[in-house]
Amino acid sequence: MSDISSGERRPPAGNSAASGNMEAELMRILIVEDEQKVASFLRRALEEEGQAVDVEHDGEAGLQRALTYDYDLVVLDWLLPLRSGLDVCIAIREARTGTPILMLTARDAVKDRIAGLDAGADDYLVKPFALGELLARVRALLRRGKTGAPKLVVGDLTLDPARHRVTRAGQEITLTAKEYALLDYLMRHAGQSLSRTMIAEHVWDFDFDGGTNVVDVYINYLRNKIDRGQERKLIHTMRGVGYCLESRNALSE
Ligand code: CA
Repeated sequence: MSDISSGERRPPAGNSAASGNMEAELMRILIVEDEQKVASFLRRALEEEGQAVDVEHDGEAGLQRALTYDYDLVVLDWLLPLRSGLDVCIAIREARTGTPILMLTARDAVKDRIAGLDAGADDYLVKPFALGELLARVRALLRRGKTGAPKLVVGDLTLDPARHRVTRAGQEITLTAKEYALLDYLMRHAGQSLSRTMIAEHVWDFDFDGGTNVVDVYINYLRNKIDRGQERKLIHTMRGVGYCLESRNALSE
């Protein structure tokens, strides 16, 4: 149990975590579950699938985290201290749309199931469940989230989440999993100034140590692949802030 501490953020289980999977893309999953054993079991299982996992043990902390960070999926227990899973689900839906929610519960009554789905949950699993079924549902929700995702376009740069493909001016660009995740994040927030901390927390999934230059290193890798030799640069350094991906007039910067 020593590896479970509320809100602890750990790096995903090694860089190779994603490589065994069909998808090289790192997905971020938040588990809100007060039973430590279940939470730790789920975390391990999902990390083995190559996902980056955060855990909270009560509804209040879970909601805060879900609203603070971008998650690709929230696995939400129904009965939680401080705030029920149903409440959390409603609040997440009120605050933002899109993040798929899988509710877990010991409740099997049809009216509870309806209440959960009405609250905005995308799927529902009754405890005790088979791990295989949970993982299959998680994959289905992540896939659904992705397939529904339109292509991201900034200038002549295109990222197709469904096909995991990046092109600039029609030329395919080959990226590593990390470079892809970084570009995906930059493109989803195109035109915004993103701090190194924001980038690191989303793309690397660990508490950002201001002393590391990993973000700058990867921005350079991306620049070499995306902007090198191009008249119009898309990745811009925001002095004292971080970075911004944007198609600007050729003369600026
Ligand atoms: Ca519970």
